[in-house]
Amino acid sequence: MDMKILGIETSCDETAAAVVQDGTEILSNVVVSQIDIFAEYGGVIPEVAARSHLEAMMPVIRKALADAECTWDDINAIAVTHAPGLLGSLLIGTLTARTLAILHDKPLYAVHHLKSHVYANWLTGGHAPQFPVLALVVSGGHTQILYMPAHNKFEIVGTTHDDAVGECFDKVAKILGLPYPGGPAIAKAALNGDAHKYKLPHPKVAGLDFSFSGLKTAVLRAVQKELGLPISHPSYDLKNHLTASQVADFAASFQKTAIEILCEKLTAATEQYPDVQSVVIAGGVSANRALRDALPEAYFPTPALSGDNGAMVAAAAYYEIVSGVEPTDPYALNIYPRISVENTGTGTI
Ligand code: AMP
Ligand code: MG
Repeated sequence: MDMKILGIETSCDETAAAVVQDGTEILSNVVVSQIDIFAEYGGVIPEVAARSHLEAMMPVIRKALADAECTWDDINAIAVTHAPGLLGSLLIGTLTARTLAILHDKPLYAVHHLKSHVYANWLTGGHAPQFPVLALVVSGGHTQILYMPAHNKFEIVGTTHDDAVGECFDKVAKILGLPYPGGPAIAKAALNGDAHKYKLPHPKVAGLDFSFSGLKTAVLRAVQKELGLPISHPSYDLKNHLTASQVADFAASFQKTAIEILCEKLTAATEQYPDVQSVVIAGGVSANRALRDALPEAYFPTPALSGDNGAMVAAAAYYEIVSGVEPTDPYALNIYPRISVENTGTGTI
């Protein structure tokens, strides 16, 4: 078909743009991360993120076009993340995309962010997942299992009742005094730790749903107990009492438990949906090496595409187009920063 889509992503703290051909071939992929700014604060400050997007947005788009050796004439459609995400961050991406769509007279596709993460698994170089697909979405804001009978059709079959698994990595990292973002820092510290040192509980949640807030508290209590401190001792001070080897052992024990919980639910899901042909893992936590090792049969995005990027947005839009989805009216494009997948209607995201 030869369709080139410019994908734009600004849902959190990465300003990203990419050009993807026919939903599978990445012609360019530019990501400017604000991690250096937020490492200093230990988390994202939404207003600062929005201002950084504003500065980086057009240079990133120009570079994506230049790297792909494209002019605007070569671009068939523009895709942009419209929800969920940080309000100010989403506004910069969506306003840019709709303005460019109007200026250059291109069809505009407003894409759900989690759908994009799932479609990162179709950018693996020709070896595409087979339907029906089960998708485990593991990100900073979501933990869900989706049943996908065909392109662009999603049914939520499991979701977290409280924290997301990525959020849990980030909060446990804070308790242990590890830097932001917590996921990679925990994974690194865990390499030197004993994963069997501390026994942490698996939550008892019915069906295919998850709960991660209890695991975070269990780590907090285990650290307090290990240090002989009362449960009233403030969590922010515990890091000052921990040795490097205790931090490594807690990181390893926590990571092992979090991965076991994910794998248990995924196994239950494959038993519940025996027709499933492929399992795909999506979202920032899919970068985790130990999770990759624990699920050798599953599809994972290439590590560079586990985090937020424009290529996955373009890929998701391509499969909307081939599924017959109409473009978004750029004048009517609205954003719903607090939208959850459940609220986007049954069966689709
Ligand atoms: P996302 O919300 O999809 O952009 O992903 C961000 C989340 O992924 C954050 O909570 C990170 O801590 C987490 N994350 C990133 N890399 C890793 C990793 N290697 N292991 C575990 N979590 C990770
Ligand atoms: Mg994301």
